[in-house]
Amino acid sequence: MNITPLDKWIRKKIGHKGSNDFRRELDNYILDKLRENIEYVKKNSVFYKNHLRELGEIYSFNDFEKIPFTRDSHIMCNPNHFVCVPQNHINRIVTLKTSGTTGERKRIFFTRDDQELTIDFFKIGMSTLVQKGDRVLILLPGEREGSVGDLLKKGLKRMGVKAYIHGPIYDPEKVLKIIKNKKINSLVAIPTQVLSLIRNEKNKDKIKLKSVLLSTDYAPKAVINQVERFFKCKVYDHYGMTEMGLGAGVQCDALEGFHLREADLYFEIINPVTREVVPKGEYGEVVFTTLTRRGMPLIRYGTGDISRIINKPCPCGTALKSLDRIIYRRKGAISLSQGHILTIGQLDEILFSIREIGDYDGVMTNDGKRDCLTIYVNMEDPLGERLFPLIYNRLEECEIIKKLIKGDKLTLHISMKGERKDCSKGTEKRKIIDKRILNV
Ligand SMILES: [Zn+2]
Repeated sequence: MNITPLDKWIRKKIGHKGSNDFRRELDNYILDKLRENIEYVKKNSVFYKNHLRELGEIYSFNDFEKIPFTRDSHIMCNPNHFVCVPQNHINRIVTLKTSGTTGERKRIFFTRDDQELTIDFFKIGMSTLVQKGDRVLILLPGEREGSVGDLLKKGLKRMGVKAYIHGPIYDPEKVLKIIKNKKINSLVAIPTQVLSLIRNEKNKDKIKLKSVLLSTDYAPKAVINQVERFFKCKVYDHYGMTEMGLGAGVQCDALEGFHLREADLYFEIINPVTREVVPKGEYGEVVFTTLTRRGMPLIRYGTGDISRIINKPCPCGTALKSLDRIIYRRKGAISLSQGHILTIGQLDEILFSIREIGDYDGVMTNDGKRDCLTIYVNMEDPLGERLFPLIYNRLEECEIIKKLIKGDKLTLHISMKGERKDCSKGTEKRKIIDKRILNV
């Protein structure tokens, strides 16, 4: 098994001298960068000048753990106050949708050098799954300069890989034709959209690929397994969000945790209740700090994603940390009675394991006495309704759902989706739609 290419790349970036203790050298590098970065933001960012005004000297990671968190509400309040360079040094601004109703926008700023760091990471990360001469179809947005698809294409070009940007999948048939005509052997795509290729009725000829990278949204195991079987290839997952500079970590050939871009980002896992760093291996909220970004550095930014650092060495042999799969996003989790939570990931694992289901919506309402979960399934099969008993039974196998139905706290309805037949919502992250507040 090949060691993750991130290992060699990070050794080079930190000026590793070849000592036997790479991990300790990397930790020293990270601590130095954290200190440097704090001085930099205190000097250049209006927000951090105030936010960190009472902060003393940082001598250790323990000192660093006392620093107050940065939340997305801080950014929404005034994104410009995070910017550390003159406006004319900003090369790209990404405006992110927020779940708030007040119309605030979360804006993230990047300089050309910041974007260069991302391109370099994409090049190295992608070398896990493609090599010179391969042909990749990017099924992510890439029209604009500096968009995810554009930076990915630039990274791939530097390693001699031909990349075509298509954008999210709206017409599976068209994408299948492109794969054949352009002799594509690797895809980068959003998980449920790849499923739409497999489920497409016209897809009779079997296509064999070298690799698939799933991106942008939670990748259900049920989807990964089917994509692997269908394209007879390895399916890799990666982790990242715009605030991190898009890419943050990628799986190696072992297909276990995400090896992290540790020369550029420092990760902590925080207990959501006590707000303290959890012991290695325990679950909590992923919090990160940028180490090398100049336009808009972020210090202890809470992502809302729940995961853990895997507490055993990766079979590939690297000393880099591995972040486990994200088990859920706090914003995408639905609270139910008796303190239970339900996530789209739990529903995905159940529903996408049913071969006929390519897409669905989950909507939670309340009739005044109990919660009601309605699953709207989107199936090409006009006789889809005959599957309702199977769907119902599978959902009832979920412990939480079973328990709440038994306790008369939840009812379950299955319905065919009428209004929307397309397979894609673009790059929008999938979630259970919570309409309960509106019912009250
Ligand atoms: Zn590994």
